Amino acid sequence: MEIKGLQQVETTIDFRCDLCGDSCKQETGVTQSLEFGTLNANWGYASKHDGESYNIHFCEDCFFQTLANLREARRGIRMFDQDFDPLAGTETDPLAEK
Ligand SMILES: [Zn+2]
Repeated sequence: MEIKGLQQVETTIDFRCDLCGDSCKQETGVTQSLEFGTLNANWGYASKHDGESYNIHFCEDCFFQTLANLREARRGIRMFDQDFDPLAGTETDPLAEK
């Protein structure tokens, strides 16, 4: 026999951007959605940061600003590599637009 009833369940209703502190909740007319990007890491025994975990949430603006900063950092690191083409974006490039 199935018995139904109402029960309170805790659920995520918003994220706050870990950079600017803004809400990641977007409302368009009658719909709401959580729009965010994340940066995750779980460092293990062989790393210099053993045991450290990160789960950083970004709002849309901060995500794309961070992505632009990463692309710029990569350009600086690789600019003298013989095979580096700063204008190239490949499907395997994790920083390229998909
Ligand atoms: Zn933000």
